[in-house]
Amino acid sequence: MPIVPTKEILDRAFAERYGVAAINVVNDLTMEAVLAAAEELRAPVIVQTSVKHVKMTGVDAMYAMWSAYAGRVSVPVALHLDHCPEREVISACLAKGWNSVLFDASKLSVEENKRQCVEVVAEARRYGAHVEGEIEGFKRTEEMTGNEVAEEQSLETVIDFIRSTGVDVFAPAIGNAHGMYKTTPHLDSQRVSDIVEATGIPVALHGGTGMTPEQFSDLIARGCAKVNISTALKIAFMQSGYDFMTEHAGDYDPPKIFTAQRAAVMEMAKHHIRLFGSEGKAWT
Ligand SMILES: [Zn+2]
Repeated sequence: MPIVPTKEILDRAFAERYGVAAINVVNDLTMEAVLAAAEELRAPVIVQTSVKHVKMTGVDAMYAMWSAYAGRVSVPVALHLDHCPEREVISACLAKGWNSVLFDASKLSVEENKRQCVEVVAEARRYGAHVEGEIEGFKRTEEMTGNEVAEEQSLETVIDFIRSTGVDVFAPAIGNAHGMYKTTPHLDSQRVSDIVEATGIPVALHGGTGMTPEQFSDLIARGCAKVNISTALKIAFMQSGYDFMTEHAGDYDPPKIFTAQRAAVMEMAKHHIRLFGSEGKAWT
């Protein structure tokens, strides 16, 4: 089974300056489709789960599903818990076998975030797992006014946070947001270079859905080794289901709609893997 540490996947991508797609899945079908896309393109991939989805499915059931599907592929894959402010969910996932977690304490003060993040890193290390850090909360695209100041914390604060916590990857605010952008976002890409230069760790790019290919290649070249994709999967999954039912009104045979949805999710995943340059980068 080619489940590998998240850090191994990211360090290779960071060194060679390609991006690894870190795709949020919402159920068994989307998890399997993302893994199948990575296998087809011989690409490493990170499968991400949200706190909501973990709670809905249950840690044991979700991990059983992950083990079974990851066991079918031969490319390097890792399981990551996205934006989690709840320490007990982090502990449960790490104990079960998740390869990495994003401790999201962006609502706490930087000091308290740092204090707790040190504990999360120590906890993760006991399982050979890794931690993504964040100190600036990401907005939703619908909350954006177009006059965003990307930088919420100073570069010094960010660097101090990374050094004192020992996080393996950091998610900075650079004018990005979750959801679907109304217009191409204005990104502070220099901030990625500054963080990478000062700390030597890879950066995680959030709010990737809707960025241009040029923005992706620029940010990846600067050190965004982990590129999160969530909204694009939701759109591919839901829209393909809607389209199928519109074209096949009255056809209530579930496997047919599932087949259409799997194909759409695979296509979306392959598109991003190619765009980020990780096609053919599998080493296992
Ligand atoms: Zn995010």
